[in-house]
Amino acid sequence: MPDDLAAYRHKRDLAASGEPDGAPASSSGEHPIFVIQKHDARTLHYDVRLEVDGVLKSWAVPKGPSTDPRVRRLAQPTEDHPLDYARFEGVIPEGHYGAGTVLVWDLGTYRNLRAEKPGDGASMRQSLEEGKVEVWLEGRKLRGGYALIRMKDRNGWLLIKMDDDEADARRDPVRTEPDSVLTGRSLDEIRAQEGD
Ligand code: MN
Repeated sequence: MPDDLAAYRHKRDLAASGEPDGAPASSSGEHPIFVIQKHDARTLHYDVRLEVDGVLKSWAVPKGPSTDPRVRRLAQPTEDHPLDYARFEGVIPEGHYGAGTVLVWDLGTYRNLRAEKPGDGASMRQSLEEGKVEVWLEGRKLRGGYALIRMKDRNGWLLIKMDDDEADARRDPVRTEPDSVLTGRSLDEIRAQEGD
């Protein structure tokens, strides 16, 4: 198992929470996956996750992603998650880490834009170390370039839509497309069906 998942397992009682156990997994397709999970925990936030070297690198984004390149969204790094977490949707019971409802808000694949740039060629691992990640998302709700940039002198990162043909200041999918891309359910419906 990748050591990257030690923190994930340490924080959880997986038998009780119903979350994936993080068994080893390899990428299923030609391109690595990304997922954005809407997580109604103590405070509502969006967990942005990118597949890198067999795990999901993760950031919690309180306001969720924007499609407007002028908007910068705070993105707080969180522990790596197992790949099969990408399809986890349900209710984490009270008293457990991350207690609350999880909905798969967007799911798709991505490309590492820096790897494709002549004169750059940075791997995802290298991009994470440098605090400068640039990916092209192919999701159901989100498409186009997104940058994740580590702020100087702070622990936080910023999630920013890159200025490309997919940028659109008038769209606001966090508000207009609130439900699950996996099941079409809202947070309330998941709570009603899977909550205690
Ligand atoms: Mn979360």
